[in-house]
Amino acid sequence: LGGSISRALAQMSNATVIDEKVLNDCLNEISRALLQADVQFKMVRDMQTNIKRIVNLEALAAGTNKRRIMQQAVFTELCNMLDPGKPSFTPKKGKPSVVMFVGLQALETREIDKQGMGKVRYMDDLCQKVMLKVIHHASVAYGFWEHGTSSGKTTTCTKYAYYHQRKGFKPALVCADTFRAGAFDQLKQNATKAKIPFYGSYMESDPVKIAVEGVERFKKENCDLIIVDTSGRHKQEAALFEEMRQVSEATKPDLVIFVMDSSIGQAAFDQAQAFKQSVSVGAVIVTKMDGHAKGGGALSAVAATKSPVIFIGTGEHIDEFEVFDVKPFVSRLLGMGDWSGFMDKIHEVVPTDQQPELLQKLSEGSFTLRLMYEQFQNILKMGPIGQVFSMLPGFSSELMPKGHEKESQAKIKRYMTMMDSMTDAELDSTNPKLMTESRIIRIARGSGRPVRDVMDMLEEYKRLAKIWSKMKGLKIPKKGEMSAL
Ligand code: GDP
Ligand code: MG
Repeated sequence: LGGSISRALAQMSNATVIDEKVLNDCLNEISRALLQADVQFKMVRDMQTNIKRIVNLEALAAGTNKRRIMQQAVFTELCNMLDPGKPSFTPKKGKPSVVMFVGLQALETREIDKQGMGKVRYMDDLCQKVMLKVIHHASVAYGFWEHGTSSGKTTTCTKYAYYHQRKGFKPALVCADTFRAGAFDQLKQNATKAKIPFYGSYMESDPVKIAVEGVERFKKENCDLIIVDTSGRHKQEAALFEEMRQVSEATKPDLVIFVMDSSIGQAAFDQAQAFKQSVSVGAVIVTKMDGHAKGGGALSAVAATKSPVIFIGTGEHIDEFEVFDVKPFVSRLLGMGDWSGFMDKIHEVVPTDQQPELLQKLSEGSFTLRLMYEQFQNILKMGPIGQVFSMLPGFSSELMPKGHEKESQAKIKRYMTMMDSMTDAELDSTNPKLMTESRIIRIARGSGRPVRDVMDMLEEYKRLAKIWSKMKGLKIPKKGEMSAL
């Protein structure tokens, strides 16, 4: 995918004459790649039109770096498509919020054609019926088999709860999925592991009743984030949407989150729209981004719901959950790799004499607490290296969310105070087991901070170390090679 885009851009930049045809060829190549990444046809066409409007042919012909101009235009356009223009509701600590999760369990259908070749498709019930009809009428000798694939709702509910619990919220989980056998057990297990209170029933079959009871109960217990998990499947699809409408009407959620599997492909738009018509979807979460799918369907979900993507799921584990960051997502969609923008930035802002040291540390990939301390210093100073780290995907989006710079700075300073109470061995260690309970207590005492804060700081360290480790062994292009995809 990335290959076909970079080839298209390379061909364009080698062309001596840039005319309408060269531009069209290049855009067609890029469009093909985006379609393969599951971006909806209409959106690809819109992107083409917009790019043609933005990119001035003469400027392109005269420009020394045509590839760069085009790459930038496509990049910006896709970023814009992921921005619905308004932020989603964000829960506030101490104030009870109800968040309802919706999402469909699509069917994965494997078509077997005459050659016996399998082709995987994700479909909802409606598509499924249409397809059955087609097959029936065509009466061709091929069959298909199917199994359900879940959007990842229940898992994502727990991740969302756990994420907020770590931020100091008091979350609770309500299981309003009475359709799937074992749904309550699954939620119960997840919740117990994360020490999050839960509510559900083995006997009651009315999801509305359970949802209302659960929400009321947790409001009484002063929970400030009450999460309602719902069913993703029904005998009839219409019944599912009606159920969602009823649960929403009864629990009056502050936010409805549409959860979609990143590999759902072209079905994303219709699914998202169908939910939007029954409940007022206000945000999107894309799951299974750790797989092969590029997640182009997210663009469709944003367009259909006019709501932003807020998180992505990156694994089965409870903490494999990241705040959605537009730029790395688009890089991935274009096959550019998460780091291209970051690399550009290094060359742009870090003084040449400081680059080798930084690159050395990056390629080693081991992240000590001392290194974190240095990066915090850099961030606070907003010196050149600080700027670079604030660009690292996932590094600053959580550490320093936009609009909360003051609180974030205070938090970073607090972390640094605690690190001042650490020994050299602790600061230089890469072994997480070193931080025993007695050491943690000692650091808390020494810095006059509660133990919880020290644990928090160590969690942050683990998170950053994970991001950092992704850069291990990374080849960092020399200046001049930067615009190559
Ligand atoms: P639901 O039916 O929509 O509630 O979906 P579940 O939460 O039960 O998830 C279905 C499957 O997807 C489970 O095996 C999950 O572990 C898995 N899953 C959910 N989110 C992710 C993710 O981000 N990455 C991966 N690899 N698996 C996920
Ligand atoms: Mg579920």
